[in-house]
Amino acid sequence: MALLETRGLTAFYGDFQALFGVDLTLAEGETVAVIGANGAGKTTLMRSIAGVIRQALGMVRFDGREIGAMAPDEIMALGIAMVPEGRKLFPSLSVEENLLMGAHRRKVAGPWRLETVYDLFPILKERRGQPGTALSGGQQQMVSIGRALMSNPRVLLCDEISLGLAPVVIRDIYAAFPRIRETGASIVVVEQDIGQALKVADRVHCMMEGRVTLSGRPEELSREAIHDAYFGAA
Ligand code: ATP
Repeated sequence: MALLETRGLTAFYGDFQALFGVDLTLAEGETVAVIGANGAGKTTLMRSIAGVIRQALGMVRFDGREIGAMAPDEIMALGIAMVPEGRKLFPSLSVEENLLMGAHRRKVAGPWRLETVYDLFPILKERRGQPGTALSGGQQQMVSIGRALMSNPRVLLCDEISLGLAPVVIRDIYAAFPRIRETGASIVVVEQDIGQALKVADRVHCMMEGRVTLSGRPEELSREAIHDAYFGAA
């Protein structure tokens, strides 16, 4: 059975329909990537799962329970944590305070606490007293990931963590993913960087204009098929 599943997920912003019946499954321990161009609906999908978008229809099931009508903090308390697009650090809080905010809503035992997050991203320990916003973009992204991990989530939703970062920084951040996976977490990464998505994921979904246009294991998907699903067939 899938740990997380959406079936026929549809979402609106007012009259504008952003998702058209999206089916997604995530097994325990699996990493799934959602790729697609600007505006394809990737962020809307993540936000619908996390309960942030209230105008979503269709089924979202987590661990056998329907969560579609739940509020974001209830969903987070169940064990779904989001690394939002744009990092969204608390600007007046230090690195350490930002991390501690992640543990606030869900107090469960698990591998992630300050010490283990600092092991994962040692630079954050050096910077722990500084305001999060004084950090570089890559370091801020590490804080955002660390903050989500502090809730010891069963599902980690990562929205475009590469956005605006230099390739070497992106590589450093993704280098942390094997250790996150080792703890048993299931992960959804939303990426515009196709190469990165193919490297990290067990399965990939490509979206275009609010629909999933291609799904498969990275080794099954040809460059041409991905190109057509991403940009539309010529
Ligand atoms: P990006 O890489 O730009 O984040 P995305 O694939 O995540 O792209 P979404 O942000 O989910 O795409 O956007 C899907 C569609 O919904 C786009 O057409 C976008 O313009 C529209 N949209 C997103 N947010 C809103 C909003 N708050 N109000 C109205 N329309 C929105």
